[in-house]
Amino acid sequence: MKVVVLYGGQSQEHQVSCVSAAGVVQELAGMADLSLTLVGITLEGRWFLQDQAEQLRRAREEGTLGITPDPRALLGLRPGEGIVDAEGTLLAADCVFPVLHGAYGEDGTVQGLLEMCHLPCVGSGVTGSALGMDKIRAKQIWEQRGLPVVPYITVNDRSLDGRSVGGCTAGAARDAVERIAGTFGFPVFVKPNAAGSSVGITRVEAPEGLAAALERAFRVDGTVLIEQALAVREIETAVLGNQDPRTFPPGEVIPSHQFYDYEAKYTDPEGAALKIPADLEPALAQRIRDISREAFCAVDAAGLARVDCFLQRETGEVYLNEINTLPGFTPISMYPKMVQAGGVTYAELLRELISLALERARHRS
Ligand code: ATP
Ligand code: MG
Ligand code: MG
Ligand code: MG
Repeated sequence: MKVVVLYGGQSQEHQVSCVSAAGVVQELAGMADLSLTLVGITLEGRWFLQDQAEQLRRAREEGTLGITPDPRALLGLRPGEGIVDAEGTLLAADCVFPVLHGAYGEDGTVQGLLEMCHLPCVGSGVTGSALGMDKIRAKQIWEQRGLPVVPYITVNDRSLDGRSVGGCTAGAARDAVERIAGTFGFPVFVKPNAAGSSVGITRVEAPEGLAAALERAFRVDGTVLIEQALAVREIETAVLGNQDPRTFPPGEVIPSHQFYDYEAKYTDPEGAALKIPADLEPALAQRIRDISREAFCAVDAAGLARVDCFLQRETGEVYLNEINTLPGFTPISMYPKMVQAGGVTYAELLRELISLALERARHRS
């Protein structure tokens, strides 16, 4: 079995991907029946074959992978065939594992490229990835199924008089303040529609803060959503499988910051505590698992996803927040930890994801 691991990528979550991939690669490298090829994708989007011994050393010593952009190791893609090296020789690959997060990794673009090359790919395909990354469209689908989503409004930069985003957030913000007043009121969360790791997200307490938050979100995506800020416990569920996926006992994230922001996720070692499993009444845990499973199937996700839910403190209501089709994947990330707590080791999880990718590819062909 020849497995290609893709990491890095063109998104704001490039560094996060390099850390996720360090975990995956160290584990896969230890599997005797498997041969590994490492492909680093630079921030500019170029693919470079990487030296495995060198990267494994970095993974062990620094906890992350790096990318050496040697022009002799530049790769290309040949539709209908696969990945080719600088000489045009086809790289042997039975399965590709995109350990990528965010745009050009988790959003269906790389999945489409791989499908064009007939390469089985771990995780969701084009549709599931694209819908999972698109917070507004995912919510629309979930609402249609009667799943409980957090109330929201959308702001599109096409509605900003066609002027530059930075130059007209004042008008857009005034308009949004009115719509917020007419719906759920402040405080709110302002989010880029398609992003992850809390990049571009701001909690806004009062109307004065909205313009700056919109501008920040518009730097990441041309479509922004504004959600009612709820006082919640954050409950996450790991989903694993294709058509008939299973779920694991949910875990809880307890951020020490005002919310689970980028720093709490990655730079502040005391930014958040993870409690696995979450302390929940069995019936409530089951309800959250059922919602997560349904959310996964509704957007046509496959392989794996981490579904993030909220449990409103005052009312006990469950809300679906969002889905991540390529969640953080170091051995101490939430997804692998929840799966491990459910009795599946990190190694078994990787093997299962590869076999799910092959199964999905067989069904398609
Ligand atoms: P990731 O993909 O890393 O999980 P993301 O960038 O897709 O994150 P969200 O999960 O939507 O972003 O939001 C990030 C965090 O912001 C949440 O974990 C939570 O702490 C907070 N948050 C987001 N929306 C709300 C809300 N409506 N009410 C309360 N808190 C919220
Ligand atoms: Mg997300
Ligand atoms: Mg994410
Ligand atoms: Mg989230």
